[in-house]
Amino acid sequence: MLISLEELELHRVVVSETYASGALDYHGAEFKQLGPIKVSAAAELTGQEIHIQGHIGGRLWTECDRCLTKVEMPVERDFDLYYRPLKAIAREEEVEVPADELNVGFFSDSGIALEEVVAEQVILSVPMKVVCRVDCRGLCPVCGADRNRVNCGCATRQSGAESPFSSLLEP
Ligand SMILES: [Zn+2]
Ligand SMILES: [Zn+2]
Repeated sequence: MLISLEELELHRVVVSETYASGALDYHGAEFKQLGPIKVSAAAELTGQEIHIQGHIGGRLWTECDRCLTKVEMPVERDFDLYYRPLKAIAREEEVEVPADELNVGFFSDSGIALEEVVAEQVILSVPMKVVCRVDCRGLCPVCGADRNRVNCGCATRQSGAESPFSSLLEP
């Protein structure tokens, strides 16, 4: 859905959309949408910029960084963004966005594609590191077993006998 500049020039635009799994392009991100993602947002023109505020909600699954099991996680995120016209950069040639304005994007002549805003917010909602639980023991680096489920008994570097200091004790 396009939030068009034409319409914004007339009035504030309030939207509410639901995106089924597969409807949004996450640019190859390592998570999957689980059921619909819902968005409600309001957009308005402030000077030359489009100001869009709203909320996304839904569920995702991703993999635990340590043991690779699926981790289901909720997405609940508010956003408050400003988009500048792309042609403004062409004029200023180089735009340095101040650190406190990192939530500034750019839009082309016609307006903003809501799908892109939502996909970006979903991507931003996923933490860099995801673990299934804080004490996840991960996969055994020797045999690949899930150490949360089995005690494979492999000697790993964490065990006393093979600690990096053990060689210092040898005669
Ligand atoms: Zn895990
Ligand atoms: Zn093992």
